[in-house]
Amino acid sequence: MLTIRDLRKSYPAPGGGPAQAVIDVPSFELGAGAEVCLAGRSGSGKTTFLNLIAGIQRADAGSIELCGSDLVQLGESARDAFRARHIGYVFQTFNLLDAYSALENVLLGMLFGPGPDRGFAKELLGELGLGDRLGHRPHQLSIGQRQRVALARALANKPQLVLADEPTGSLDPARAAEALELMRRACAEHGAALLLVSHDQSVIGSFERSLDLAEINRAASGVGSTGGAA
Ligand code: ADP
Ligand code: MG
Repeated sequence: MLTIRDLRKSYPAPGGGPAQAVIDVPSFELGAGAEVCLAGRSGSGKTTFLNLIAGIQRADAGSIELCGSDLVQLGESARDAFRARHIGYVFQTFNLLDAYSALENVLLGMLFGPGPDRGFAKELLGELGLGDRLGHRPHQLSIGQRQRVALARALANKPQLVLADEPTGSLDPARAAEALELMRRACAEHGAALLLVSHDQSVIGSFERSLDLAEINRAASGVGSTGGAA
């Protein structure tokens, strides 16, 4: 479903030095419905990698084939449209719109996909335990509840792939485990593959398949990059 080849991304060095390679991934694949945790120390390129897959950032070179399209070849507006239809993204800081209710945040996400479906939006929020919080705005919700709204929004357009960036980072350990379980169950029930990024050992350890970004990323330097992935 997702096939990445020779993916490269550099950032210009502050002050105008040579560009610094952050991502140099020869090969990465994810099957339909797969569930994978991508580990890696802070600054190793995890968020950049997810943003490239989501088409939020543009790769310098390589290919990202998802559901039959190569995202690297698409222009910005085509990438936006593609993302809305095929990818759900749970951002590290959720990126909910505070002027809108939980339900409206999910409906807004649907505007860019197949279109708003109030019934399905309510159903998703209900499944995620927010049936009595539909009219609450993000600041009226706990962090865990906000994260569940973000998850509902990510699933709203029935994506084939859900990306989640350190989704449990701002939750205490008990809540984090619960939230993670819910996220995995919801993705499985809705038929979405899950690619989750984390540097938290308890999160990483709970996945059957996890790998360190350094194992696939030749741009990773320092500790962990020479670990000899099989
Ligand atoms: P992670 O999510 O693993 O912490 P990031 O993908 O956020 O890593 O960042 C990887 C590296 O790229 C870091 O060294 C960071 O400083 C650098 N970086 C990230 N975004 C930019 C940017 N917009 N411009 C320049 N450097 C950046
Ligand atoms: Mg990050």
